[in-house]
Amino acid sequence: MSNHPSKERTLVIIKPDGVQRTLIGEIIKRYEKIGLKMIALKMLVPTIEHIEKHYTLDPEWRRITGEKTIKGYQSKGLTPPSMDPLEITAKILENLKKYMTSGPVIAMVWQGAHAVEIVRKITGGTEPLTSDTGTIRGDFVLDSYQMSDGDNRAVRNLIHASGSVKEAEMEINHWFKPEEVLNYRLVQEQILYDVNLDGILE
Ligand code: GDP
Ligand code: MG
Repeated sequence: MSNHPSKERTLVIIKPDGVQRTLIGEIIKRYEKIGLKMIALKMLVPTIEHIEKHYTLDPEWRRITGEKTIKGYQSKGLTPPSMDPLEITAKILENLKKYMTSGPVIAMVWQGAHAVEIVRKITGGTEPLTSDTGTIRGDFVLDSYQMSDGDNRAVRNLIHASGSVKEAEMEINHWFKPEEVLNYRLVQEQILYDVNLDGILE
């Protein structure tokens, strides 16, 4: 049953600021406690090429992110630095490359029911200023686009999490060799997913 919802996978990266803030344990705890299963983990300092490829696995990412950023400026009544989405994203990508290669990161694969959506929910919205309280970004970091754009750097939001199942598949292949992603059963999966809750009572 490899397409059962409980088998969904997502990529999570604890970015260099998350490692420096000593939040590795706190972040892992939140994904673990909801019932997700960690099936791969590594610590590394990514190369610039690896990060560029990561953000451009989706050929549409440059356009979509540029358009989103322009709309963000306009919705706050501000003038975007450029009306060309690709020019905007080129700058964002430069800053992301500096940020993401500045120190060690933790790359992980998490598996479980609706893993992509659940991880995004626990992680919170991209801009920490507006991420909901109770989410990782909402609870542990206070950056904003206003401040990061003004200082010409990437917004520090602790975590990357895949945005869709398709994105997750591409990103997992980008960060992990197939043999680094493990197949195993966690005992708690019986309570989370088994249809018949038999075998509890003696
Ligand atoms: P995520 O999936 O929640 O990380 O967000 P995206 O995939 O949309 O964006 C990836 C990265 O691009 C973010 O972590 C930010 O560093 C950057 N980014 C996205 N949207 C904006 C924006 O509106 N303004 C700025 N300055 N950076 C952005
Ligand atoms: Mg994304």
